[in-house]
Amino acid sequence: MTNTMTIDCDIHPGVPNIKALLPYMDEFWRESFVARGIDGFDMMSYPLGAPITCRPDWRVKGERPGSSLPNMQRDALDAFGISLAICNPLTGGQVAVSETMGAAICSAVNDWIIEHWLNKEPRLRASIVVPAQAPLLAADEIERRAGDKRFVQVLLPAACEMMLGRSYYWPIYAAAAKYDLPIGLHAGSMYRYAPTSGGWPSHYLHDYVANSQLFEDQLLSLISNGVFNRWPDLRFVLIESGVTWLPGFIWRAIKTWRGVRAEVPWVKRSPAETIRENIRLTVQPIDAPRDTGVVERIIEQIDSDRMLLFASDYPHWQFEGDAVLPDGLSPALLQRIRVDNPLETYPRLKETVQ
Ligand code: ZN
Repeated sequence: MTNTMTIDCDIHPGVPNIKALLPYMDEFWRESFVARGIDGFDMMSYPLGAPITCRPDWRVKGERPGSSLPNMQRDALDAFGISLAICNPLTGGQVAVSETMGAAICSAVNDWIIEHWLNKEPRLRASIVVPAQAPLLAADEIERRAGDKRFVQVLLPAACEMMLGRSYYWPIYAAAAKYDLPIGLHAGSMYRYAPTSGGWPSHYLHDYVANSQLFEDQLLSLISNGVFNRWPDLRFVLIESGVTWLPGFIWRAIKTWRGVRAEVPWVKRSPAETIRENIRLTVQPIDAPRDTGVVERIIEQIDSDRMLLFASDYPHWQFEGDAVLPDGLSPALLQRIRVDNPLETYPRLKETVQ
């Protein structure tokens, strides 16, 4: 059965504005959003009109990208032969400065996705959206959703209020580890700080490209603060991070760790080993030329064929036609990226197909 499967690890249902989420909130927040005049707040983190936000042939005039289930079924699930797909709703819940407001939005998004997507399409799974600005409330939300096996991962923006290795976030990791849920870090930010270490960029172009540096920083933070010492089996999935930065980054991380590891004596293994075991990356956007063999060479350099996960990133415009994966991948590597790696990364998907 698994030979014919393809598992899409990153699709984006378009979550409407706050008004659509009010039915899933308690009375206080239903009244509060309206009284404050922010019930029309648009939570889309990708600029709606930007070309990258929606492939032109998938865009429907007047409709929010990714908001139609029939269109997603036709353009992604059926078109790419997807057996299972993980919905990653990108919402503003994690941007709210108020911890309780953030928690209310995130919880409503999880209820909304159950009713409007998971209950209507058996091929869909979802990430648990949690308020990263309130780790204890985020852990509560994980507890609340863990019983529904259609939730297969915990979703955080790649940039939060602090580096992700800090113990402030550990309640989230403890709850995720308790249920063997990976943490998905999706490109994007809570925008408390500039997305580059040099300051605020002038253009979205720069903001988007800068994500790969951010992922590098978060990986080192997780490793050097001992997150994987405490939870050796916890996996992090870097979503929309690109992949070609990884070999150079691993080389720099190993070299520097060898030189200064007295500073972090609890990091006993080479960062490369931890990265190969605990880190996974989705393949869209693939930031490499489409030359045959490039991805195989990257796999050789990182010395693991278990790290890359198939993802269309629907409806974002990352590729044309049905070219979700670069040409020239061997059948064995295709099998790993499309099926085996996602099943090994997400235990709950494995339960579904066995
Ligand atoms: Zn994505």
